[in-house]
Amino acid sequence: MIPYGRQWITDEDIASVVDVLTSDFLTQGPAVGRFEDSIKAACNIPHAIAVNSATSALHIACLGLGLEPGKRLWTSPNSFVASSNVGLLCGAEVNFVDIDLDTLCMCPDKLAQALAEAEAAGTLPHIVIPVHFGGQSCDMKAIHALSQKYGFHIIEDASHAIGASYDGGPVGDCRYSDACVFSFHPVKIVTTAEGGVVTTASGDLATRLDLLRSHGVTRQPDLMTREGDGPWYYQQVELGLNYRITDMQAALGASQMTRLTEFVDIRHARAEAYDAAFADMAVRIQKREAENRSALHLYPIHLAEDGPDRAALRRRLFEFLREHGVGVNVHYIPIHTQPYYQGLGFREGQFPNAEHYYAGALSLPLHPQLSDADQAHVIAMVRDGLKEIGQG
Ligand SMILES: *Cc1c(COP(=O)(O)O)cnc(C)c1O
Repeated sequence: MIPYGRQWITDEDIASVVDVLTSDFLTQGPAVGRFEDSIKAACNIPHAIAVNSATSALHIACLGLGLEPGKRLWTSPNSFVASSNVGLLCGAEVNFVDIDLDTLCMCPDKLAQALAEAEAAGTLPHIVIPVHFGGQSCDMKAIHALSQKYGFHIIEDASHAIGASYDGGPVGDCRYSDACVFSFHPVKIVTTAEGGVVTTASGDLATRLDLLRSHGVTRQPDLMTREGDGPWYYQQVELGLNYRITDMQAALGASQMTRLTEFVDIRHARAEAYDAAFADMAVRIQKREAENRSALHLYPIHLAEDGPDRAALRRRLFEFLREHGVGVNVHYIPIHTQPYYQGLGFREGQFPNAEHYYAGALSLPLHPQLSDADQAHVIAMVRDGLKEIGQG
């Protein structure tokens, strides 16, 4: 089975992890700082805080920006459940803003409309989390302009988007947000096995995030609220968590980051071959903008068929592809349709674009080690599969 995503580990990556294993520190050592420095350089940003997952990164970013019971978080329904779960974990109320069917990202017009309604109802969000679906940045200028008008914070969920650019700068430089979060899960662009990073331009927020990832405890005298007892002394000044990343993971990440450009370039070459092949097939592809370069974590397609059979046809195509060795996947089941969220009162039909996209969606194999032969096989099987379901 050709997987839809796969890590690419080199001998240098392995050597960097082995070096840590024989060093003095397995965690809280120098590799974490090296990994954070590699992110700061790639994102042109003064602060990067590494943690043990993007979910943890989103959680501390929400806590750091003061999300709490009585406040609201809005995100995209076309995302992994972590994007909204972190709001619930802070005790906040969660809601969603539907996507645009071309970009598959949060629709700025729908956000504007929802904000106008929320202002009238006194239910404005404290934080909005746009999700850079597939690695393509959301319309951050429009979302940022709305944040100025309505006074909310922005955390970019850039789990798919390390190596992407927007408006002439790297995603992660936080020109249009308070913070930006990356994931380093093995299927993502760069991996640390499990891992996440928050970037921010705010020194105050960075200090809070550093405390929150490690129990709210500090050894820095300037952060203590009263004088220390002696050289052994540490002080808890916040309620924090243990979300630390290990040095083994950070060393892997720092080594992988040296190949970030190569990873994204290969993904682009593959995506362009897919674009050309699908131009005459009955599928829609995600709109990408040349000036805002996607990191291409995913290559999502969806059926051009808009009829009532869309979901059934997608299922048949999914099964056909899997039977023929193509490890397709589906991103994403709209979060509000998950049983847990239905239990909170969400209903099908609330975010029709996300639901429509999902009903016809497939993510095709896209990763740096996908061979020419494998990609040709994927394309041939999509063509055959579409014929098989009467869409060819
Ligand atoms: C993968 C992913 C996450 C969670 O990342 P972890 O590092 O696995 O916690 C969050 N949001 C999106 C959009 C993701 O794709």
